[in-house]
Amino acid sequence: MSELKEQLELRPCAHYGRPWRECFMTRKYECPYCHGSGERMEETPFGDYEDTGCPHCNGSGEVFALVTIDWQAGSASKKNNPLND
Ligand SMILES: [Zn+2]
Repeated sequence: MSELKEQLELRPCAHYGRPWRECFMTRKYECPYCHGSGERMEETPFGDYEDTGCPHCNGSGEVFALVTIDWQAGSASKKNNPLND
């Protein structure tokens, strides 16, 4: 079975100042919760069903990801590593 994949190649660029940030938006994917319908049927207190809209895609039937890359200066000391805070 074929599968289309998106790949992001990480490569630092010459940029004045630090830290810097890059943002990417993926293509849109079919919402895995509503399978692209954008609907979510819920039973009312009267036994009817109403479309309340999919809470994952807000009724659009599609989702996408925002990928943010925060470039940081390398450090020989773990003391300066923001991930250790
Ligand atoms: Zn959805």
